[in-house]
Amino acid sequence: MAEATDATLVLVTGAGGFIATHIVKQLQEEGYRVRGTVRSLEDEERIKKLKELCPDAKHELELVEADLTKPESWEPAVKDVKYVIHVASPFPTQTPKEESELIQPAVEGTQAVLKACVAAKSVKRVVLTSSCAAVGWGPGADTTKTFTEEDWMEPEKLNAYGKSKTLAEKAAWDYVKELPDEDKIELAVINPAYVMGPVINGSMSTSSEVVKRLLEREKPFVAKLNFPVVDVRDVAAAHIKAMTLDDAAGKRHLIVNSNVWMKEMATILSKEFKTQGYNVPTANCPGPILWLTSLFDRTIKMVMPDIGKVYKFDNTRVS
Ligand code: NDP
Repeated sequence: MAEATDATLVLVTGAGGFIATHIVKQLQEEGYRVRGTVRSLEDEERIKKLKELCPDAKHELELVEADLTKPESWEPAVKDVKYVIHVASPFPTQTPKEESELIQPAVEGTQAVLKACVAAKSVKRVVLTSSCAAVGWGPGADTTKTFTEEDWMEPEKLNAYGKSKTLAEKAAWDYVKELPDEDKIELAVINPAYVMGPVINGSMSTSSEVVKRLLEREKPFVAKLNFPVVDVRDVAAAHIKAMTLDDAAGKRHLIVNSNVWMKEMATILSKEFKTQGYNVPTANCPGPILWLTSLFDRTIKMVMPDIGKVYKFDNTRVS
């Protein structure tokens, strides 16, 4: 297993995101030099927050601008980097009108990052953040089985987000497979379940949106949804292990802690926050009402195919 040395520079893409900030923090705590990409350096408050993720860091966090829709932005970002943890990808709370809004940056952006890594000549391994959505989560997934790293979803059956993750991961594997020997770089993939846990980037993300909506009682009910969940700190640690463990190269890694019903989540939140004045809904919504709501609510529409379903994943590889 490789160790952090002064010379080891790691690039984290989308460094300001929910998961990426935990990766940056843990890398800095382990002594790595970290460069992160953000789409814009102009939001001073956000940048300050990122720079303060690890106050005792041996090396100050370096931030550069790069965008998945701008292939030319990745060459300077990967310069002199040994490991790339490619986390950035659009993860919206609502289904976009055009699927391409997600698929294009996810797929072409991943290809652009990998292309820049090859050109840099310094990159040994890329760790890609994929998703359980690329394995067995969503419409058409067989809920009678426990999914393993051998499984793939059929993209055409998925919503735009699931499609974007599946196609981006496939594109990454195809890309490294086709590389000539002299250009070879290693690829390791992390496939997290629904990621929950402390928000340290100071902004909302799709993951925290569920808890926020429950706390704000956006609806007077909970949907009968089941989530395979995983702690964001475990997800970050898994990325770093996948970056350094010899055995992780060329493999996918499912990462999931347990399955939780939304009603259970709501009950935990209610117990914890009731005394602070939060009126968290804990009753399941009757099916017909949920269906009616989905006709005008894009978030409910997005989750309708998952109502009542339990998706199970085998996490043996990472445990
Ligand atoms: P966030 O929305 O917090 O992070 C997404 C990151 O992607 C942000 O940093 C965002 O940058 C960046 N990004 C989006 N579009 C672009 C673009 N065009 N160019 C450059 N950067 C872009 O979500 P999470 O941290 O939860 O997700 C991170 C990754 O983990 C994603 O790949 C997601 O698919 C994956 N994942 C997440 C799960 C979860 O439950 N949270 C589960 C499984 C996988 P900016 O800050 O500028 O918006």
